[in-house]
Amino acid sequence: MLDELYQDLILDHHRRPRNKRPCPACSCRAEGANALCGDSLVVGVSLDGERIASVSFEGQGCAISQASASMMTEAVQGLSVADALALGGELRALLRGEAPARDLGDLQSLEGIARFPVRIKCALLPWTTLEHALAPPAAREERR
Ligand code: ZN
Repeated sequence: MLDELYQDLILDHHRRPRNKRPCPACSCRAEGANALCGDSLVVGVSLDGERIASVSFEGQGCAISQASASMMTEAVQGLSVADALALGGELRALLRGEAPARDLGDLQSLEGIARFPVRIKCALLPWTTLEHALAPPAAREERR
């Protein structure tokens, strides 16, 4: 059972998190926390127009939240904001146990978490934080 939860890829991202660094110059950032587990993250994004030029995270928490954050930064790098938000939606569906319409790459390794409902919040924390960084109400106003 634990093997399913902590697949090799998840462990690898946990041990060697990608894009885990401060981002003082980031154009958008947001903080997120999962009180149930004690996970807390800051996600920073630099936008080039509507495209995600770079994304990084800081923070601490369980292996799932850290690995998911690491995978997220790799998955959304270079995507448009709309595509990044759509990808987050696809991961949500995967974690609800729905079959994805396409291969989600490394994110696919989080599939097994669908069977551990208490950990789904851990896996989604980086994505909800990213959504807040990309689409805070104030920024939406500015873009109009
Ligand atoms: Zn957690």
